[in-house]
Amino acid sequence: MLIYGKEVRNSIKAKIKRYATLNKMHMVILQIGEDPASQMYVNGICKFAEETGVDADILKLSAGNSQEQIVHIIEYMNNDPEITGIMLQKPLPSNFSLEVLANVINPYKDVEGITNYNLGKLISYEQGIRPATPKAILTMLKAHNITVEGKRVTILGRSTILGQPLAVMMTAENATVTLCHSKTVNLEEETRRADILVAAVGKPNFVTPDMITEDVVIIDAGINFDEEGKMVGDVHPETKEKAKIASAVPGGVGLITVAELFNNLIYLKQEQERQQALKK
Ligand code: NAP
Repeated sequence: MLIYGKEVRNSIKAKIKRYATLNKMHMVILQIGEDPASQMYVNGICKFAEETGVDADILKLSAGNSQEQIVHIIEYMNNDPEITGIMLQKPLPSNFSLEVLANVINPYKDVEGITNYNLGKLISYEQGIRPATPKAILTMLKAHNITVEGKRVTILGRSTILGQPLAVMMTAENATVTLCHSKTVNLEEETRRADILVAAVGKPNFVTPDMITEDVVIIDAGINFDEEGKMVGDVHPETKEKAKIASAVPGGVGLITVAELFNNLIYLKQEQERQQALKK
């Protein structure tokens, strides 16, 4: 059975719209150079912002800028009280360091939860901002009444924005997590053991039917494009047919990710207000 993200997205969207009528929020997406694939994600964010009454601007900067110049721009945005959240579009051109630029963002404006400060809070299980895609995956499971507690969860992919934070968040939800990557030996053994399998590898149709059992729940986080430009996930359609439950691509986790980004924006807005109140 395929599961979709539209309904959850719409309910989050309604909540954000209500909040935005009373609270002005402004997100800036910093785009360095051109990356056609991620442009779609950014367009989706801008459309969501328009539909919910949140201000969103794309600040397009040439890849010819130096890293130091970008650092200054981020610092300027950190000090602008009109800006609630800052997002850094990825991938960055190769002459820029994500590690450096992400950590210039004020953690209280870090809408993606990618600064070391916020990742530190995540691994110490402290309350704070969480990366949007792992959040979306947990939201999707909850919306479909799939419990995580006590389950064996196998995650394919250990990136800082997806696999790793998801492993921590699943552990916090009392799952037993196996985090796989390109050096994992006998990957099939790990995937066949899973009650819940999350694919976040970035390779089209990577998970084939022989890698799973029929009882598994699959969350396909992959967003890839085939030769005809069609969006496909990391999990082969035949694998999804074999699985008990599998999330659709397109129309799955990606839809909820955008909504969770705006949930994060609300969180930042409230934190900023708390900080202001403490100063008075
Ligand atoms: P990434 O940074 O490229 O990480 C890919 C991960 O996959 C790495 O940890 C890599 O292992 C692992 N991997 C590569 N080949 C493998 C193999 N043969 N066996 C096992 N693991 C392997 O990618 P990402 O940014 O996490 O994104 C992953 C996918 O999710 C992409 O399709 C991306 O477009 C999608 N995505 C979706 C959303 C959404 O909203 N749905 C949001 C963000 C990203 P190593 O660490 O060993 O290299």
